[in-house]
Amino acid sequence: MSVTAPAAEPAAAMTVIFGGTFDPVHYGHLRAASELRAILAVNDFRLLPAGQPPHRDSTQAAGQHRLDMLRLALRDHPDLTVDAREIRRSGPSYMVDTLSELRDQLGDRPLILALGQDAANGLDRWHEWRALFRLAHLVVMTRPESERRYQGELAELIAASEVARPDVLRRQPAGQVWHVPVTQLAISSTDIREQISSGGDPRFLLPDAVLNYIGAQQLYAKC
Ligand code: ATP
Repeated sequence: MSVTAPAAEPAAAMTVIFGGTFDPVHYGHLRAASELRAILAVNDFRLLPAGQPPHRDSTQAAGQHRLDMLRLALRDHPDLTVDAREIRRSGPSYMVDTLSELRDQLGDRPLILALGQDAANGLDRWHEWRALFRLAHLVVMTRPESERRYQGELAELIAASEVARPDVLRRQPAGQVWHVPVTQLAISSTDIREQISSGGDPRFLLPDAVLNYIGAQQLYAKC
């Protein structure tokens, strides 16, 4: 008699948002995004450029340029997509508004906000940061030398929400925190902007298509 194994329960689909200024996007972002997408095995992984970032003085390139550069970088990589909602929105751009809007669209589908350890350490400076935990899971991308520097209420909330395995994230829409090591190349947008403004050559730190766009649009000429 043959025994048929019970069909595996289909894993709940998840949406991942990787936010940043992407000014410009570089291989550090792209490598981390690619690894995290594979680790989480998700079909819906979106890089989401910040509109008018409230946490920084200013971006050097206009939102439309940052969006165009992301689209060029991901042109041949359909597993990573771009979500342009913050660029289209006018006024200050808060992650809490973005996640609320996504939550309305996704219903109970698990939603993940992915961010690097540096960004996560300063999460309690974000507008209405406590609400982020109600709206999404947090996945913090770490590297061996990156330091967890959570303080006060943020440290308490993360300690209370931390999970050890990613499959747990699929079981509820929001509210858990998972730390995962990914390759973080020593590349920053600041360094690329400075190289360009001082006449340096940042090739191989970012896709050629993005570098060509920067040249054609004369971005970052005066930082
Ligand atoms: P800037 O130098 O202008 O501050 P950045 O290079 O840090 O920019 P952001 O757009 O601010 O890039 O970062 C978006 C997200 O990507 C953040 O969560 C950040 O932690 C992460 N990130 C930035 N650089 C890297 C990198 N080299 N490897 C992996 N993740 C990165």
